[in-house]
Amino acid sequence: MNRFRRSDSADVCIVGSGAGGGMAAYALTRAGANVTLLEAGGPWDNSGADSAMFTWPYETPRRGASTRERPFGEFDACIGGWNIDGEPYTRAPGTQFDWWRARMVGGRTNHWGRISLRFGPDDFRRKSLDGLGDDWPIAYGDVKPYYDKVDRLVGIFGSREGLHNEPDGVFLPPPKPRCYELLVKQASDTLKITCIPSRLSILTRPLNGRPACHYCGQCNRGCGTNSNFSSTNVLIAPALATGRLTLVTNAMAREVTVDASGRATGVTYVDKTDGSDKHVAARVVVLAASALESARLLLNSKSPRFPQGLANSSGTVGKYITDTTGTDVSGFIPKMMDHVPHNEDGVGGMHVYMPWWLDNKTLDFPRGYHIEVWGGLHVPGAGFMGGIHRYPSGGGYGKAVKDDYRRYYGATIGFSGRGEHIANDECYCEIDPNTVDRWGIPVLRFHWKWTDYEYKQVKHMQETFRALVAEMGGQVFSPMPTAEQGYGIAAGGRIIHELGGTRMGSDAKTSVLNGYCQAHDVKNLFVADGAPFPSQADKNPTWTILALAWRTADYIAAQRKQGAL
Ligand SMILES: Cc1cc2nc3c(=O)[nH]c(=O)nc-3n(C[C@H](O)[C@H](O)[C@H](O)COP(=O)(O)OP(=O)(O)OC[C@H]3O[C@@H](n4cnc5c(N)ncnc54)[C@H](O)[C@@H]3O)c2cc1C
Ligand code: SF4
Repeated sequence: MNRFRRSDSADVCIVGSGAGGGMAAYALTRAGANVTLLEAGGPWDNSGADSAMFTWPYETPRRGASTRERPFGEFDACIGGWNIDGEPYTRAPGTQFDWWRARMVGGRTNHWGRISLRFGPDDFRRKSLDGLGDDWPIAYGDVKPYYDKVDRLVGIFGSREGLHNEPDGVFLPPPKPRCYELLVKQASDTLKITCIPSRLSILTRPLNGRPACHYCGQCNRGCGTNSNFSSTNVLIAPALATGRLTLVTNAMAREVTVDASGRATGVTYVDKTDGSDKHVAARVVVLAASALESARLLLNSKSPRFPQGLANSSGTVGKYITDTTGTDVSGFIPKMMDHVPHNEDGVGGMHVYMPWWLDNKTLDFPRGYHIEVWGGLHVPGAGFMGGIHRYPSGGGYGKAVKDDYRRYYGATIGFSGRGEHIANDECYCEIDPNTVDRWGIPVLRFHWKWTDYEYKQVKHMQETFRALVAEMGGQVFSPMPTAEQGYGIAAGGRIIHELGGTRMGSDAKTSVLNGYCQAHDVKNLFVADGAPFPSQADKNPTWTILALAWRTADYIAAQRKQGAL
């Protein structure tokens, strides 16, 4: 330990300031704990100069096109991407897997889509229902009070629908559908696909001192008025205001340290500003570095007492990792051409979506997917509409091409399927024995294989989206992908919903954590990101990460009060 230059002390040390870490910091500081939060990235503030919410594309020579640092566009509020200089990861031969990482305060919550869906009662007990994967050691009823608390604190809009596995929340009123969304709703009704108002963590009414959205539609740029959710401005800022949070930026956690009795004693990290190693001593350690990074930290925390990594007596750290399945289809809808110019602004995301609506008994694949809808009249930026050559005019010059852009602008509608991937033995990560990052920390090597369950589900998505475009009288831009092309399934990691790696379970021989996300092997070690999830769902994961992180924080606070931690 004496190779470290400084030793600070905290009640709780949290690693990572994204959805999970931000929520843990918020709840623990409110409960009176002194918290040190280690964040690998630099500072960020959506309510200050960091937000590009009001920048016009023509204000920059690149018109918002992507850069290496901003793969989703120059205005996107995320520093990071698929590849980060000096922070590699590797793939086993034949594996297709990409890993998106944010490196900034707030992590990916600065630019995420804000689609905020609760998991439903069935999602916690899938094995009991169809025999595949594993059940959670907790039920919907355990998490529901925390979903409610997150709804009330963060704010979410939606409509009460009473759907069994798509539970309603504490909703603000949803925005009205836009013109193209009304067309999608009509087509969905004809095809008997449930289509309802979307559920996004964007304020349509003022809440807790934050103003309502003014419908600029630029949520991925970071909201300068804090009308949408980011961990940075909705959780970390109030946690700092308690005076009990020490936020250490540019602090790349290397490993969790333990004492001779096997208790966690704190976290070592690299101070990226000068490359030195430092240590935070803490009574409790909470990992929230994003699912796969938390698994990496545990695998790298080897000691004589824990030779295969910390909390890994089951050998399941890094195992049962999943991503959402995904594929997209878009089409040209002639009905939407030559429209009357009108203001289609709204929140920075869809106003309607389709939750899973079918019964698997009538299908050749298990589990389901939801459908996300896109199109409309967004601020045009570099590469918008995918190029005019795809439309009936086929391209052109001068005034004619400008007129064509006006005619066809807003006449594209697209669908993205987001489905449940069932955990399997061939999707896992491990430490690559031959590769380290720029600080000498061993990196992850990924293994990934989709099964027929996922391929068949994605084939169904493609067929459904094509039927929707046809129902609207449109033409799809791309041919149906073949079986050899995996029916267009996105590579593992590409949907950026990676979960698992330290799954929870009631059996310490087959899981890493208990139902409170507490390590079976190390009582003062917790995980508060997506790593504890035993399974995916046909929903995006972040609302559940937030609810679980709050529940874990409350458990830590209660245990500390009882003197058990
Ligand atoms: C473009 C995009 C759109 C998305 N849309 C949605 C959506 O609509 N709905 C949804 O539910 N989900 C969505 N997601 C996923 C969502 O962003 C993640 O589920 C969520 O942010 C995960 O939270 P987290 O706290 O686990 O990780 P993150 O938000 O990634 O935060 C992890 C933090 O830990 C830090 N960190 C990592 N390693 C270390 C280390 N060794 N030491 C110190 N700090 C470290 C990182 O710098 C980062 O700040 C989207 C993601 C992206 C990229
Ligand atoms: S659409 Fe609303 S929530 Fe999103 S950035 Fe604009 S004002 Fe903020």
